[in-house]
Amino acid sequence: MVDAGMDRTEVVIVGSGFGALAAAKKLAKAGTPFVLISETTEHLFQPLLYQVATGVLSAGEIAPSIRAILAKYPNADVRLGRVVDVHADAKELVYEAAGERHTLGYNFLIAATGARQSYFGRDEFAKVTYALKTVNDAKRLRDQIVRCFEEAHTTTDPERAKNLLSFIVIGAGATGVELAGQIKELAGRYFEQSIRGITADDVTVTLVEGAGVAMPAYGGKLSEYTKASLEKSGVEVVLNTLVTDIDEHGATFKAHGSEAGVRRTAETIVWSAGVQANDFAGVLAERTGCDTDRAGRLLVNPDLTVGGRADIFAVGDMTSLNNLPGQSPVAMQGGRHVARTVLGKTPRGTAFKFRDKGSMAIINRFRAVTKVKSIELTGFIAWVLWLAVHMVYLVGFRNRYIAVMSWFGSFLGHRRPHFHYAQEPSPVGTVDADDEDDEVSVAA
Ligand SMILES: Cc1cc2nc3c(=O)[nH]c(=O)nc-3n(C[C@H](O)[C@H](O)[C@H](O)COP(=O)(O)OP(=O)(O)OC[C@H]3O[C@@H](n4cnc5c(N)ncnc54)[C@H](O)[C@@H]3O)c2cc1C
Repeated sequence: MVDAGMDRTEVVIVGSGFGALAAAKKLAKAGTPFVLISETTEHLFQPLLYQVATGVLSAGEIAPSIRAILAKYPNADVRLGRVVDVHADAKELVYEAAGERHTLGYNFLIAATGARQSYFGRDEFAKVTYALKTVNDAKRLRDQIVRCFEEAHTTTDPERAKNLLSFIVIGAGATGVELAGQIKELAGRYFEQSIRGITADDVTVTLVEGAGVAMPAYGGKLSEYTKASLEKSGVEVVLNTLVTDIDEHGATFKAHGSEAGVRRTAETIVWSAGVQANDFAGVLAERTGCDTDRAGRLLVNPDLTVGGRADIFAVGDMTSLNNLPGQSPVAMQGGRHVARTVLGKTPRGTAFKFRDKGSMAIINRFRAVTKVKSIELTGFIAWVLWLAVHMVYLVGFRNRYIAVMSWFGSFLGHRRPHFHYAQEPSPVGTVDADDEDDEVSVAA
């Protein structure tokens, strides 16, 4: 690889997700020169990926260009590249871009490189399951859903049709619950209207979870409500059960305490059961002497510095601190805390304090669960709250406007504007989603 030499800046931010953008906005407004390096050009709103996969929203609506968001700040320099190393004592970062290797000097480094799927040591599952972590993951799953319904409509083999219309979602956290609920809704409110001969009853959606409750992060009344609502909508919820094997056409379920596994067939299996820190967390750990947990997350200091370094910070999903959840508010508040420290607005060494404003998940149309401190809401009120919060946090007026229009079309009507029947969908592992021409909208 060509060595393109070195330049310097005051602050380097790595990533373009929630933590990185929150830090970048603070530095940008303060006029501090910084370089933001990310391996993707977009700021991805991951909580709505399942709506891209189910045709409600387009990728552009949840993934505006990070370059466009920061364009109005002359002190912000956005670079597309993959950060691969750090020389902590020399205060230098190494990144690869356009086939060249660059070195960039900094005074402060803020890392927010997030997490990826974890298969708990069964990495071979990645080849036979669908994931929901990136825009391309969502597009692949969307194509697969369309393919399954189209082929089920035309095949003359009833067994094959049954398998095509069977979906297994592994992991009943918020992502699994939202996706399972949405696939079932899609069957009844969209495909039943547009494909003759297929009804919602022909479509099996199974949500399988190792714990004894759906949405284990909530527990109690909210978990019970989630399970009951999913079942009422026709989703099968299987608890206390691990998936021990997966291939292209099915999975083996093993209930806790049972000797033998049971084979379940399905053409689409989605894995949403765990996360582990992205590779850059491991690099930082090695270069700074910082410990990591079992998921590879950096055990950062209370002020979000890494290892013995006062000039290197890490925030969000790549870190572990005080059992804070891997959620966007933790990343955003961490990003702001670190930016304030770098700017000298917060004294060095100040511990990060997370303000928990609550969490929420949508189950299906008009049903959600919300927890704000000790207040627990379910049903329609929680759903309206979910709608309002997601509208506020989507980046860019245009994206908010289009998303609201799409939600009205999908939730009140029967529209799924982002299924592309004209394309030739491909089976798992063979789609190059980069080739697609999804609208990419710009949020200024
Ligand atoms: C499907 C799904 C649903 C979710 N739903 C919710 C929800 O409802 N509510 C909630 O609060 N949270 C939710 N989350 C979690 C939330 O999205 C994360 O907590 C949040 O994105 C973490 O932000 P982050 O900045 O740490 O990392 P990310 O947002 O993941 O950003 C990481 C960034 O780092 C970049 N990167 C990685 N490695 C490198 C490298 N070596 N060099 C350069 N760039 C790199 C990536 O391209 C990316 O831009 C969900 C997550 C998923 C996947």
